[in-house]
Amino acid sequence: MAGQIFAYITHKAGKADDSALELATAAGKIYSDVSMTAIVTGAGADLDAVCNEVANSYKEVWKFDHDLLTYPNAEAIRKLLVAVLPQDAVLLAAHDTFGMDLCPGLSIKLDAVFAADIVDIEGLEGNILNVIRQEYSGQVSTHVACDIANGAVLNVRPGVFQPDESGSAGGQVIDKSSEITDLTTGRRFLEIVEAEAGDVDITKEDVLVSVGRGIEDQDNIEIAEELAEAMGAVVSCSRPIVDAKWLEKARQVGTSGKTVKPKVYLALGISGSFQHLGGLKGKPFIVAVNKNPKAPIFQMADVGIVEDLLDFVPVLTEKIQEGK
Ligand SMILES: Cc1cc2nc3c(=O)[nH]c(=O)nc-3n(C[C@H](O)[C@H](O)[C@H](O)COP(=O)(O)OP(=O)(O)OC[C@H]3O[C@@H](n4cnc5c(N)ncnc54)[C@H](O)[C@@H]3O)c2cc1C
Repeated sequence: MAGQIFAYITHKAGKADDSALELATAAGKIYSDVSMTAIVTGAGADLDAVCNEVANSYKEVWKFDHDLLTYPNAEAIRKLLVAVLPQDAVLLAAHDTFGMDLCPGLSIKLDAVFAADIVDIEGLEGNILNVIRQEYSGQVSTHVACDIANGAVLNVRPGVFQPDESGSAGGQVIDKSSEITDLTTGRRFLEIVEAEAGDVDITKEDVLVSVGRGIEDQDNIEIAEELAEAMGAVVSCSRPIVDAKWLEKARQVGTSGKTVKPKVYLALGISGSFQHLGGLKGKPFIVAVNKNPKAPIFQMADVGIVEDLLDFVPVLTEKIQEGK
């Protein structure tokens, strides 16, 4: 049975989030023969730019332009979606901070099935959509059967689907702003507080040497710094390293840290939580060093090295220095 499939697009400063084109690929794994519609909310010229950008990957783009949608307020957008989505709609959204805020409540309002943090879509059999999620920090994969007869709200993990770059959808932008009714909410936007800049900008670096809890001690960060220097790279880290105040927040990769797009990413003693990998975009070449052969990071890595990083990294640094 084919319903209608929608993707909620997040954007910033007139640019669609990377997840916009990933959701198009994910949607294609559910209904390959049904037109996909992107929903873009916001205000002004930035909104038009985003609509035109995603039109290459969606058959239709529904644009909702309103001052109260300038900043993404999940409560207001939930009200809007409840009003405009057809009854059996399947809505995809990124499993990021905003998607997690928007989607569970939306599924309840729509009386539609909900699945969070989807890492793969196996396909649709009748009304049953089979998806794969990860639990226990990625240690196990769970296969979930969702009955989508009443529609569905699905949070898709950023970075797991290849972005749709066919650019061939030739989508039509339809201004649906006249359908906006009541957007008043209990929650009010106050201000955006930009994160502190820090002494390096890890978002601009091609090669990152990233340390996780496996580095074991603040004094050991030095070996990562020596490797980074030998490679012409910069040191970044996972959140526990920032929580321990071993490195500054500006170096944290992840959903509550920075989104980075390096060409090469060395993950030293990082387990590979979705919150960490959520900050890794652009399909870098990942080299993971971890002493646990079952660490989830190895599922993402191009090269996996099962070693104690405290032994391995100094040797690697020495070899690179010799090679120079
Ligand atoms: C709302 C929220 C937001 C979050 N945001 C972020 C975020 O932005 N970024 C982020 O990183 N995390 C974030 N987290 C935390 C996240 O869930 C994980 O806890 C965190 O990413 C784990 O960091 P880690 O991989 O360094 O540590 P661990 O998960 O503890 O992994 C350490 C790894 O090191 C390996 N290891 C240990 N010793 C050695 C050794 N000597 N040699 C080699 N390997 C070794 C272990 O086998 C293990 O795999 C967030 C969590 C929440 C709830």
